[in-house]
This record gives sequence, structure tokens and C-alpha cells, in this order.
Amino acid sequence: MLNALDFDLNDWIDYLATIGQAKFRAKQIYGWLHKGVKFEKMSNLPNTLVQKLKEDFSENQVSVYKKLVSGKDGTRKYIFALQDGNIIEGVLMSYKYGNTICISTQVGCRMNCAFCASGLDGLVRNLTAGEMVGEVLAVNNDLGNGDRQITNIVLMGSGEPLDNYDNVIKFINMISDANGINISKRNISLSTCGLCDKIYNLADDLGGVTLTISLHAPNDKIRGQIMPINKAYNIDEILKAVKYYFDKTGRRIIFEYSMIKGVNDSVDCAKELSLLLKGLPCHVNLINLNYVKEKGLQSSGKEPVQAFLKVLDKNGISATIRRTMGSDIEGACGQLRRKILKN
Ligand code: SAH
Repeated sequence: MLNALDFDLNDWIDYLATIGQAKFRAKQIYGWLHKGVKFEKMSNLPNTLVQKLKEDFSENQVSVYKKLVSGKDGTRKYIFALQDGNIIEGVLMSYKYGNTICISTQVGCRMNCAFCASGLDGLVRNLTAGEMVGEVLAVNNDLGNGDRQITNIVLMGSGEPLDNYDNVIKFINMISDANGINISKRNISLSTCGLCDKIYNLADDLGGVTLTISLHAPNDKIRGQIMPINKAYNIDEILKAVKYYFDKTGRRIIFEYSMIKGVNDSVDCAKELSLLLKGLPCHVNLINLNYVKEKGLQSSGKEPVQAFLKVLDKNGISATIRRTMGSDIEGACGQLRRKILKN
């Protein structure tokens, strides 16, 4: 069976032509699907079309398999089941201004960063665009009260979005489509370990989404130790690519910097990072490393993070410490999934 959420408006127009149905039905079907409505309930479609859709498609191939809700801040951690039996993770964080969902873009990951649980078993497969839409719709459905519950999306769950480029672009185009749930590209963040050639493509093809770079080090020596991708694209190449991205889109770049004890958290590292980013329109997110047992790296703890921030501040680099949410339910991305796989 096809996944109806893999179809964008043009795909629907093509499909409808092959079964002799009118083009204007495309927007109707697309609109209903993105509201989470079943074919059965699409009240303005002729019955014959509804029957045909039911034969050919399923409405959403992502379902909530397990959900953990934080007693502290209401953060919801989801395990989604896919049709082929694979499972992936997503997180919903509620803020004053709205609900942000963090979605996965791949089952597993092949980047193998030294601190991350997602890459422990390598890449299993890419998610399709429709499966990514399915994550958003499954959470909207779980929240109830209609289709506009989610206001922001971050592509920061398992997987490397730019390693699944075509599907991710299709997903962002569909989820920001005015005929669907219409989440503005400005409210979508894409996080990457730095696949530079794809950063140029992203600037040219899409523009407008917030680009987040997982930097985690002020120089190639340290970055090379914790992120294998740095051998393919070093920091210099990243900086060139993000400058291009900024010039093209006008969007400030966000750098993620997870603080790892004894690896990248010294005051010297902070000074070096300040010099590196000087003059670049950017913001640095300092993150407390989530402990991943299999990896063994330790988080820096409160004081080194504060000291690091102070140096960045003093040097005029915009930076904040990322608030930890949902700490009582499960740590880093990929960990909950692994626990469930093991059982
Ligand atoms: N592959 C993409 C997106 C997924 S990871 C990327 O690399 O950006 C999302 C963010 O979580 C990245 O910044 C990643 O480096 C970070 N991360 C992964 N494992 C972590 C851990 N154990 N503690 C803190 N941050 C972690």
C-alpha cells in the first residue's frame, strides 16, 4: 500500500489524472489528510473516489507505539512505529509561544559521532517525506484539538537530515504548504553535522529554514576526534558554507555546542570559539551533554558551562545555555529507542 502522506499536491494531481478524476480534488484530499482525517470521513469526495483511495493508500504509516510524559515540564517523548516494524523517536516540547516537535529523519544514522546514541547501530534506512509528515500528524492527533497544535519543527531527532536530502526537502515543502498545516519555514530548524555541499543546495533550493550546525568544537583537531564527518568537511568549509547560507537567506546561523568534560569545555576552547565565530551573524547554544552509557563521555557540569558562556559573552558572541527539558523521562535522542529495541 502507498503512503498517502508521501504525495504532495503535484503527485495527487498526477494520480487523479490516471484514474480519470478532476484535478481540484487534489487540494481537497491533501487538506483532509494533513488534518488527520480518514478517507472514510472526507465528506466532499465522491464515494467511488473514497473507495479507490482506500484500496491504494493508507492515511498515515506512522503510529504512536509508546509515549512518556514528563512530570516536570510536560515534555512528551514518543516512540513511533513504522509500517515495516522499525521504530523511531520524537519529542514534543511545550513553550509559552507554542509547541515544538523534534522529529527523526532516518532510522539510525551513519555519522557515528562519539557522543550520540543514534549512530550506535549505523543507518537502517531513510525515512520517506510522508513518514516525517506522519510524525507531525501523529503528535497533532495525540494532542487533540485540531491540526494546528504544532507551531515549530526541529529536525534534530535521530538521523542526519542532509544525508536524506530529497525526502527532507519534500517534507519541508509539504509541511509548509498553505493547503496543509502550513508551518512557516521560519519556524522550522534543520540541524546538521555539516554536510557542506548539501548546505549550499539547501540555501538554493529552499531558503528560509533556520540552519543549525552541530559544531561541538573550536578546531579541527578536537572536532575530528568526536565527529568523523570532520574528515570530509572541516570547520573552514563549514564556515564558508554557512556564510553562503546567510547571504542567500538572511537567516542567522545557530551553532550547537555540547559540553563534554575534558574534551571541548576549557576556557581556551571558549576563547578559540569566540575568535572563530567573530563577525558571523550567529548564536551559540551550549548544551549539557546527555550521558550515553555505550559512549562513556561525561558532561562538563554546571560551572565549566557557565565559565564557557562568560567568555563567549565577553567576546560579543551571542550565546545561551540550552534549557534541559524532559530530563526525568529519557536522555539523549536515540536512547529510548535503543532501550525498547533491546527489550
Ligand atoms: N544529525 C543532525 C541532527 C540530529 S542530532 C546533527 O548532527 O545536527 C541533534 C543534536 O543533538 C546535534 O547537535 C547532536 O550533536 C546533539 N547530540 C547528539 N547526542 C547528544 C548527547 N548525547 N548529548 C547532547 N547532545 C547530543
